[in-house]
Amino acid sequence: MKILVINCGSSSLKYQLIDMDDESVIAKGLCERIGIEGSVLTQTVPGRDKYVVEQPMPSHNEAIRLVMDALEDSVHGVIKSTDEISAIGHRVVHGGTSFSESCIVDENVKQVIRDRFDLAPLHNPANLMGIEACEAGMPGKKNVAVWDTGFGMAIPEKAYLYAIPYEYYEKYGIRRYGFHGTSHMFVSGEAIRFGGLDPKTAKVIVCHLGNGGSVSASIGGKCVDTSMGLTPLEGLIMGTRSGDIDASVVQFICNKEGKSVDDVLTILNKKSGVLGISGVSSDFRDVGTAAAEGNHRAQAALDAFVYRVAKYIGAYTAAMNGVDAIAFTAGVGENDKDTRKKVCEYLGYLGVKIDDAANDVRGKNTIISAPDSKVKVMLLPTNEELAIARETKRLTE
Ligand code: AMP
Repeated sequence: MKILVINCGSSSLKYQLIDMDDESVIAKGLCERIGIEGSVLTQTVPGRDKYVVEQPMPSHNEAIRLVMDALEDSVHGVIKSTDEISAIGHRVVHGGTSFSESCIVDENVKQVIRDRFDLAPLHNPANLMGIEACEAGMPGKKNVAVWDTGFGMAIPEKAYLYAIPYEYYEKYGIRRYGFHGTSHMFVSGEAIRFGGLDPKTAKVIVCHLGNGGSVSASIGGKCVDTSMGLTPLEGLIMGTRSGDIDASVVQFICNKEGKSVDDVLTILNKKSGVLGISGVSSDFRDVGTAAAEGNHRAQAALDAFVYRVAKYIGAYTAAMNGVDAIAFTAGVGENDKDTRKKVCEYLGYLGVKIDDAANDVRGKNTIISAPDSKVKVMLLPTNEELAIARETKRLTE
């Protein structure tokens, strides 16, 4: 069974064709600059040279057409015909309060995606364009929506309500949703499997530390709290996002600098985080290099980042009245042993002990805690595409 996974941004489209018999990637690719001059598709097939197609893609429809052509190409392709594709899984960012579970796309699902354009103005329109392009290009195939907000929808009322007038929740659905849901779902499942934990009771904290970052807490694979909120702005300090902040800061900057609320929100989303504090970069490697060269602001950014992660772990341990496993994932979590170690240095009170030799590893499932650590700490690479493909298979088989 072959599943095509699609992840659309406003001007990009990432895809992977996955063989579900052994969960291997048959081909993956990226369409860039959709709707802009200079559109290009790049396809990678294991063991082969990259296949690059420079051709106009005025919309996602042409992009999907090019993806189909690239997959079917007689020289560079991997399938004879798209008939071989059993179903298509789509990452959809916001399902609002309507969906906690992945679902087969129908008119009602598309309407929910449209209804939530207000909460995910950059992502949901692009996600819908991707779905409609697949419907047009590969009619009759089942499309599955896997929601980035899905995993977080299980959290209880006490965790999702903001302490603002209740009418805003009722009228507009203003609440905590959480994002990176496919990653948290995948990695918390891996933590239970790889860590040999009880699937019904395991208390797991997942730290997804990439350019965007979030922490989730789950019991028995069911999310009980997560750090991103109505939008991905809340929670950890990220590459360019501030994370948690006193809302009054917005008004204060508006008044002092003559900016609009929208201007300040753009600053909080795109110019803050480790970039904002360090002034060096949003890329953790650059900030790490600058800190090592003695740049105080770069070091302050990294220290604040690690401190915030450790605070969330403490908070979620309290929320669950304990923790069995802590898992690190995504770009920083999978590759940066120093960040993992520094976060864990805050967790001595939980009986967390890191094995430095085991922690000296990148990008592969590893238990990095010492055998006598009271909490299992793991590095578990995330795989959102595979999580989407698994959901698609489950719903369409
Ligand atoms: P992601 O969003 O998951 O792709 O993660 C991207 C982030 O991971 C970037 O800020 C990278 O700098 C960071 N990253 C990747 N490799 C390393 C590394 N070896 N050390 C520190 N950060 C890394």
